[in-house]
Amino acid sequence: KEVAELVAGHVVDVPDFPHAGILFKDVTPLFADGQAFRQVVDAVIEHHGRSSFDVVAGVEARGFLLAGAIAYATGAGVLAVRKAGKLPREVLAASYALEYGEATLEVHRDALEPGQRVLVVDDLLATGGTAEAALSLVEQAGGMVTGFSVLIELAFLNGRDRLAPRDVHALLTV
Ligand code: IMP
Repeated sequence: KEVAELVAGHVVDVPDFPHAGILFKDVTPLFADGQAFRQVVDAVIEHHGRSSFDVVAGVEARGFLLAGAIAYATGAGVLAVRKAGKLPREVLAASYALEYGEATLEVHRDALEPGQRVLVVDDLLATGGTAEAALSLVEQAGGMVTGFSVLIELAFLNGRDRLAPRDVHALLTV
C-alpha cells in the first residue's frame, strides 16, 4: 500500500494526450525522484524474489529504465524489447493492434539462452497488447517468463485477462 501511494504521488494525469479523450499517466516524475525510483525498483525485486530471474526484459522506452535498475541491483542481464526496425541483426517480431493501426516489437533471435528465466517490466499496463507481445517474444526466443511487473495497471481496460494465466504484478492499480 505504501508503494502504491508513492507511485500515485509521483504520477501526473495529462488530459487529451496523445489524443482527445485519453487521460495519459505521466510517470516521469517517479523516475526523476531518486528515492522514489529506488523504492519502486526494490518493491518489484522483493515481489518476485531477487534470484527468481536471470534476465530482465524492459519494453521500449520507459521499461528500459526499470529493467536497467533492476538488473544492476540483482546481477541479472537486460533484454531490450524494441520497437520495430531498431535492431541490427536477425529478429523475432510480435505485432499487436493499437487504437489506430498496429505496432510491432522485436528482439534479436539469439537474445536468450534456452530456458533462461525472464522478468518482464514496463511502466504501465493498459489494454495489454504491448505486454502480450513482449511476453510472446520472450517465449519465442526460448525464455521462460517468470514474472511480469508494471508500475501502474489501468484495471478498467482488463489487460491482465489477455496475459492469463501469468501473474501480473502492479505496484498501483487504478
Ligand atoms: P497497452 O498495450 O494498451 O497495454 O499499452 C501499454 C503501453 O503503452 C505501455 O508500453 C505504456 O508505456 C504505454 N502507455 C499506454 N497508456 C499510457 C499512459 O497513460 N501512460 C504511460 N504509458 C502509457
